[in-house]
Amino acid sequence: MFESVIGLEVHAQLKTRTKIFCGCSTAFGAPPNTHTCPVCLGMPGVLPVLNKKVVDYTLKMAVATHCSVNRESRFARKNYFYPDLPKGYQISQYELPIAEHGHLHIEIEGQKKRIGITRIHMEEDAGKLTHDTARPISRVDLNRTGVPLMEIVSEPDMRTPEEAGAYLRQLRSIVRYLDVSDGNLEEGSFRCDANVSIMPKGSDIFGIRAELKNLNSFKHVEKAIAYEVSRQKEIIMDGGAVVQETRLWDPAKNRTFSMRGKEDAHDYRYFPDPDLLPLIIDDAWVEATRKNQPELPEQKKARFIDAYGLPAYDAAVLSASRELADYFEACVKLFPKPKPVSNWIMGPLQGLLNTSGKSILEAPIAPAAMAELLELEDEGVISNKIAKIVFEEMAATGEPAKTIVNQKGLVQVSDVAAIEKIVATILDSNPKEVAAYKNGKTKLMGFFVGQVMRETKGKADPKIVNQLLREKLR
Ligand code: ADP
Ligand code: MG
Ligand code: ZN
Repeated sequence: MFESVIGLEVHAQLKTRTKIFCGCSTAFGAPPNTHTCPVCLGMPGVLPVLNKKVVDYTLKMAVATHCSVNRESRFARKNYFYPDLPKGYQISQYELPIAEHGHLHIEIEGQKKRIGITRIHMEEDAGKLTHDTARPISRVDLNRTGVPLMEIVSEPDMRTPEEAGAYLRQLRSIVRYLDVSDGNLEEGSFRCDANVSIMPKGSDIFGIRAELKNLNSFKHVEKAIAYEVSRQKEIIMDGGAVVQETRLWDPAKNRTFSMRGKEDAHDYRYFPDPDLLPLIIDDAWVEATRKNQPELPEQKKARFIDAYGLPAYDAAVLSASRELADYFEACVKLFPKPKPVSNWIMGPLQGLLNTSGKSILEAPIAPAAMAELLELEDEGVISNKIAKIVFEEMAATGEPAKTIVNQKGLVQVSDVAAIEKIVATILDSNPKEVAAYKNGKTKLMGFFVGQVMRETKGKADPKIVNQLLREKLR
């Protein structure tokens, strides 16, 4: 039997205003080649100047993932020829990256696992090529050359596609908490290459790996790895050998195919960039970063369990994004019953956001309005069912819950005498069902409750309805 081994390389585009070695804007979507200057165009004789924000952001990530920060690190030239790389080399870090030996935790079905982070380094992005489909023409846009990237290389610690997905989600959650990258796979601000190999179960000698590219969604990452594992198994079962290569994921065909043989480091002729000084980071800078670190997803999740008594599942969902967590806490502050708040956020609110394609920041119902609705339900002014209708109405109109309840006359009927009258009418007009019920067909209870609710347009207090029906049907 085989075991798969997976290591991920992630490139996160950093959210700085300007590029890593020049003052050009990093803004997306400008006309081609307008965000360029002699430095990022790679003109002869120009000198790069390191953007301090890039170091700052990378340092935040290094501290958040428990890396040791190298007090002195270096930039290196990675040489290769490609039309999107005007200098003929990419400035990256090689022998001495800014940070090494970190880790983070993933959790799958309640099982925590530590995934090692080999290194984090800074580098510049290349330009963008577009290929004409009709004519043999390619165009290059150099707006992206010199946009700062942070590369995070994991140890080959993952064993299943799900673990790889969980690692990637955790990593993305952290960059978003730190606000250093948009973390958007689909838009390319968060890119993942997956290294995959297989070995006999229990072995400690890794197999030959393939590196998978073009994975631009979580679904593709997991599917591509699963496909690649089964492809490699087949090769080995047939007596063949896996070759080290770079493979592209084809989402339309659901398979990977060979792109090129894998380069070795020596193919890149790395050497320290003589134009850039060694980067020195002092203890004070590291300490300041540590001190200013926001609460991270793992800590927040633990606190949500501790402070609010939430189930681990709820805590994980709510802490996945800082904005969602903030929304939850704002609600709980006003309506201090955490579990109902969590239910409403994970259920109706999340559903509403999903269907409208909105983020929590664009939620049509603010925390205060949400709290007011939950209070009405909690006080029994409206039933849960009515509350869901009011919720929809709030989302559509922006009116507060109280206004909607009053205008539409949705106040719950808890008047026992009034409900009793309706119960009596229902039972009178359904003698067959009453007889059947008394003969043991107790499933009919639902039918009677439904009739009463219909008569009251859903406004009768279900507790009272159930109680009265049970009494009358005895
Ligand atoms: P390269 O640039 O050659 O891909 P890196 O060191 O940048 O090398 O990345 C190597 C990645 O491959 C790491 O994420 C590492 O965990 C992973 N890796 C190394 N060996 C294996 C293997 N046998 N199977 C799967 N992943 C591996
Ligand atoms: Mg690689
Ligand atoms: Zn520039």
